Amino acid sequence: MDLRYTPEQDAFRAEVRAWLAAHVPKAPLPSFDTQEGSDAHRAWEKTLHAGGWAMVPWPVEYGGRGANLLEWLIFEEEYYRAGAPRRVNQNGIFLLGPTLMDHGTPAQKARFLPKIASSEELWAQGWSEPNAGSDMAAIQCTALRDGDHYVLRGQKTWASRGAFADWMFGLFRTDPASERHRGLSFLLVPLRAPGVTVRPIAQLDGETGFAEVFFDDARVPALNRLGGEGEGWKVAMATAGFERGLMLRSPARFQETARRLVALYRENEASADALAREAVVRCVVEAEAYALETYRTVSRLLAGGRIAEEASLNKIYWSELDLRMHETALRILGARGELLPEAPAARGVGDWLDGYLFSLSGPIYAGTNEIQRNVIAERILGLPRGA
Ligand SMILES: Cc1cc2nc3c(=O)[nH]c(=O)nc-3n(C[C@H](O)[C@H](O)[C@H](O)COP(=O)(O)OP(=O)(O)OC[C@H]3O[C@@H](n4cnc5c(N)ncnc54)[C@H](O)[C@@H]3O)c2cc1C
Repeated sequence: MDLRYTPEQDAFRAEVRAWLAAHVPKAPLPSFDTQEGSDAHRAWEKTLHAGGWAMVPWPVEYGGRGANLLEWLIFEEEYYRAGAPRRVNQNGIFLLGPTLMDHGTPAQKARFLPKIASSEELWAQGWSEPNAGSDMAAIQCTALRDGDHYVLRGQKTWASRGAFADWMFGLFRTDPASERHRGLSFLLVPLRAPGVTVRPIAQLDGETGFAEVFFDDARVPALNRLGGEGEGWKVAMATAGFERGLMLRSPARFQETARRLVALYRENEASADALAREAVVRCVVEAEAYALETYRTVSRLLAGGRIAEEASLNKIYWSELDLRMHETALRILGARGELLPEAPAARGVGDWLDGYLFSLSGPIYAGTNEIQRNVIAERILGLPRGA
């Protein structure tokens, strides 16, 4: 394996770096879990799109740059290094987009991909329901066929950034007599339509980007079904593969956190406890290992491979690494780490506490780590099913 970059890739990196240096907002944007922040992040996405950087591996006709996944990794490295805003339309660009590329009809790709790339349409993910979380096959939301439409009834919940989204992709039971994984279809649902009610849910930090969504006879064109009727589970597993296995958490995010962690350690070396240094080194090494593993995954995909069950290994790795990094930061900061950045005695605590609170959710979202361990045990190691 040759780990060096080509001259073309070096030139691509230089171009990304120069563009970001000229365009990344100087001050951080407000949180995208608020209306004001969501609007500001959407405006940033439009700037990215106008520069041709919204989603570099997508074909130009869909709003991309026609680059490949290796260049996407390079873009991500530069993006995090530049301290650019988080991606408000991550459900669209990282999850639905690649799924549409693989499972969408030409008409669906032409209709949806360009507006995802430009963030004219923000997307939410609609898997979870009050009685279907880890056990996603227990989905009860129905979508019954009525001519060339489906009529939706039921409730979704925990939709990240759902309060400000325009659309939701999700799984609905199109065959009411079906059970478990069968009889589910993958639908693209407008959220600002008659029969749809979006209710914000307050998060741990009090912001209300999360939402529950109620469907009371909402009508969705049958043309908005991705994949065959009753074949939604297969399509959803492809989406989950992108989420857990590659796109949602690129290694650059953790390499950047590792750099910040080293800087934090240096600033606080005199007061940090003896084990903190070792913990920091371990985080740096693990972030680099994750980067190398991701380069391997991308090389495999470029050679025609697919993301399969190993996405579960990946998801456990990045979510537990993120948590360890933030725990390490709080350990370095000691009692000061519990202060909000604006507190008089905070002195350079940064946003580590906020990051720590979010990292606690990593082992839960995108499928809990307990469930990922079940997948690894049963489908990779071939162990017998649990009780
Ligand atoms: C920050 C955040 C963002 C999210 N965003 C979205 C979103 O955008 N869209 C969406 O649809 N959902 C979203 N979710 C919901 C998330 O997918 C669910 O919380 C998750 O799947 C777990 O479901 P649950 O909360 O119902 O817990 P439960 O399924 O009730 O699980 C409770 C506990 O039991 C364990 N458990 C359950 N079954 C088993 C088993 N068979 N073996 C071993 N352990 C088991 C679980 O691991 C967990 O620890 C989000 C969650 C969070 C925290």
